[in-house]
Amino acid sequence: MTAAVAGRRVVHGTSATTVSAQDRLPVDRRTPRGPVAWTAMSAPSASNDGAGSPELFDKVVNLTKRRGFVYPSAEIYGGFRSTYDYGPVGVLLLRNVKEAWWRSMVQLRDDVVGLDASILSPPRVWEASGHLANFTDPLVDCTNCNARWRLDKLDDPDQCPNCGKRGTFTEPRQFNLMFKTHAGPVEEAAAVAYLRPETAQGMFINFKNVIDTTRVRPPFGIAQIGKSFRNEITPGNFVFRTREFEQMEMEYFVHPDEAERWYEYWCNERFQWYLDHGMPADKLRMRPHDPDELSHYSSGTADVEFLFPWGWDELEGVANRGDYDLTQHAKHSGERLEWYDQATGERWVPHVIEPAAGATRTAMAFLMAAYDEEEVRGEKRTVLRFHHRIAPYKVAVLPLSKKPELTGPARELAARLRPHFMCDYDETQSIGRRYRRQDELGTPYCVTFDFDSLEDRAVTVRERDSMEQERVPIDEVVDHLRELMA
Ligand code: ATP
Repeated sequence: MTAAVAGRRVVHGTSATTVSAQDRLPVDRRTPRGPVAWTAMSAPSASNDGAGSPELFDKVVNLTKRRGFVYPSAEIYGGFRSTYDYGPVGVLLLRNVKEAWWRSMVQLRDDVVGLDASILSPPRVWEASGHLANFTDPLVDCTNCNARWRLDKLDDPDQCPNCGKRGTFTEPRQFNLMFKTHAGPVEEAAAVAYLRPETAQGMFINFKNVIDTTRVRPPFGIAQIGKSFRNEITPGNFVFRTREFEQMEMEYFVHPDEAERWYEYWCNERFQWYLDHGMPADKLRMRPHDPDELSHYSSGTADVEFLFPWGWDELEGVANRGDYDLTQHAKHSGERLEWYDQATGERWVPHVIEPAAGATRTAMAFLMAAYDEEEVRGEKRTVLRFHHRIAPYKVAVLPLSKKPELTGPARELAARLRPHFMCDYDETQSIGRRYRRQDELGTPYCVTFDFDSLEDRAVTVRERDSMEQERVPIDEVVDHLRELMA
């Protein structure tokens, strides 16, 4: 989360487990869990060095292109400025990341409801939120090579990373990241609209709608997943920073006296979510912001950070935003955005705890975390060790040979599995190569239909990580796989 401090962008306003923390958690929304674990277990290390391996970056990017995860956008026209398209496998990965988030943030809870707000909105929303005035990054130009940089992200604020020259930067200018457009056929001031740079404002401006039309009462949350747009000065590191990306954000509205406890609760929950979905603990940390990084209205912000190949970097920010957002929108819209407690007759403006994650960035982190190479019988095996909820395909059906007596029933089996699992089917090349391909896609289970299957009505189920195989009756395959991926 970028914070509101002088000279920096003022943001809006700012091992595979099978059961998630949410599954185990009794959702008692009135009693946030006690002292949180993350402060102790993830104290930030002093520096970014010793980070993940830089070769890993190239290997993962190559694999994603080769296997249909991510393609450069408009590639046949030479590409388009750090925009990417998610291919047949990548779209599954991204959907699974979003689905895993939605499941734990909305489906498994009784205190969070969903929303899907519009991407286009009028300037008044962004005046109220502070984005029009303050959603800026400090931009510097190198007078030697004309490269442009975001000053606060440079390792050395005096040296141009492109030409290496020192002392060649212009004075920083504040560059607004909002994408502006016009709604309707006339390009006049009245038609100005903005593509949202975050999904959060949709939740604030619908606060009244949600409390008037549903049964929620504080503490409760509104969650949203969707595209956001920022005219980033220096997009890069593959899909880590792009101008068009997807976010998963939730605004949790609480009584002001309870804000601190809920902030701790959500820091803990969000950190645990990554662990529960297979992120290794040694590649994850929670970094509380220094006081000079905090926006003026925030009493606490912490970032969930992942150890990317270039070092620790943000996946998600959790912020205690006070009553800033609702107060601003109430002032600018003239609507009362507060909670009225009918039992006590009290009125109060809820405080907001906001966990704000990037879906595309998180998908990339899952790829980096899952990538592994090992030697098997003298050959290199590349495998993506995804948690089954994140894995693009859950199962692949592979007939041992291309002979019709095997492919016919194998296709039938795939058709039986498809209503239950995202399923791939592959009959080309040798069985060994097909296993390797599924390993590279991160498919947790392969089901092989062989000549014996015609006799014993059983198939071989091979587990991706251990490569262990077991024979399972065809009629039991669905239940068997369901149990393995519960
Ligand atoms: P950064 O400091 O990296 O620019 P931020 O602090 O401005 O990020 P937030 O406004 O807190 O980011 O947005 C919440 C999340 O949205 C981030 O943690 C990140 O995962 C994601 N995100 C933000 N900007 C981008 C981007 N340009 N490309 C991809 N994901 C992004």
